[in-house]
Amino acid sequence: MKIHEYQAKDLLKRYGLPVPSGILCETPEEVKKAAEAISPCVLKAQVHSGGRGKAGGVKFAETAEEAETLARQMFGMRLMTAQAGPEGKIVRKILVTEAVDVEKEYYLSIAPDQEKAGLVIIASKEGGTEIEETAKKHPEAIVKIPVSVTEGFKKYQGIRTAEALGLTGENEKALISMLSGMAELFVKEDCSLAEINPLVMTKAGQLLCLDAKVNFDDNASFRHPDHEALRDIREEDSREYKASLSDLNYISLDGSIGCLVNGAGLAMATMDIIKSFGGEPANFLDVGGSATAEKVRDAFEILLSDEKICAIFINIFGGIMKCDIIAEGVVQAIREIEPQVPVVVRLEGTNAEKGQQILKESGMALIPADDMADGAEKAVEAAKKYAEKCDTEGTEGRGKGTGEFRTGRHYTGESETGGSDAGENEGIRHPEQKGGDAL
Ligand code: GDP
Ligand code: MN
Repeated sequence: MKIHEYQAKDLLKRYGLPVPSGILCETPEEVKKAAEAISPCVLKAQVHSGGRGKAGGVKFAETAEEAETLARQMFGMRLMTAQAGPEGKIVRKILVTEAVDVEKEYYLSIAPDQEKAGLVIIASKEGGTEIEETAKKHPEAIVKIPVSVTEGFKKYQGIRTAEALGLTGENEKALISMLSGMAELFVKEDCSLAEINPLVMTKAGQLLCLDAKVNFDDNASFRHPDHEALRDIREEDSREYKASLSDLNYISLDGSIGCLVNGAGLAMATMDIIKSFGGEPANFLDVGGSATAEKVRDAFEILLSDEKICAIFINIFGGIMKCDIIAEGVVQAIREIEPQVPVVVRLEGTNAEKGQQILKESGMALIPADDMADGAEKAVEAAKKYAEKCDTEGTEGRGKGTGEFRTGRHYTGESETGGSDAGENEGIRHPEQKGGDAL
């Protein structure tokens, strides 16, 4: 989970790190007022993306009037940062912060070190907006210092970091104290990244965190109910957000073949095999080991709300999970949503025959696959044909459920619950479960 710069700075401050003062604003009037208190100031677009400076999301203002004028231009603009993807990021909040006289910019972060199963301090003298270039062209300018999770941050690691940044005396001490706070924050808040870029030396000789990025590890969110308040769902991929409400592990990708798979390993393998047949997966989706018919339907709706989808490949290996349950979920989902795109199904494992029987008896136009490779090949082929058809005939959308996400309906999977009206009114019966509609 990502949070905004102003939230990350609040956290850093709580852990004892030096951050410049700032005021969060949502209107040009608020920016003007803030700039009267802080001048000269910097206006910083609060979006979940780095690279704002280069995209026009960081502006200096000498006076409150200038700040207001700039704010009018910034609010509502689509910030096309290098990290934001083709849609860019809309500016809804601006952080007005002290303009600091910068002497030097450093890069400092703590990240997980997967190889050593620990943490790593990453630091560079060449901080600022060109850090990605530096990493590519001069990797030697970036130092990495491992930190053990069990033993925690040690002073000597701070001394080594200070050395790498060329900081001595009081500055070295300040850096060590900052790193100690950062490491504590990283572990206590279950971060997946804590990054300060730039960390600056001011002309007055003080170290300050000018920009901050803190990401949380979603796997630990149950330990941090307070983090939910930091969430800004407008910044998140809407399908990923909806998937998280249904407890589905879903990640949006750029391709045209929707994947509905149980198990992360099988999901990865499915993406690989689609690629090896010349296709591109539209997503990673693991419906989990305990996928219910209901989850399958939610997954279907999420996949079909993606305009890029030209085929769906359902690839299920029934272990603990039974294929007949999945088959019922598929039948139910298809009956309700009536997808226009072709659907390829491969069921293997526990109760596979029973599952196939259910699919067959449903009389639906599904494309059965013998095995994974056969399924991938058929999905790639079907997606190609569907795309060609759309090019010539156009399309009314991927399914009638398109863009209309409905959660929390209870399909029991026990009997034929009456086709398409089975779920339509459930949102009325369970208004508290209509989380997805709040978007
Ligand atoms: P990012 O582009 O999204 O990483 O946004 P940053 O907050 O890092 O801002 C980009 C750049 O603007 C920084 O690397 C600094 O060079 C500059 N910048 C931001 N705030 C200040 C400031 O208060 N004073 C000065 N002199 N430069 C700043
Ligand atoms: Mn930055």
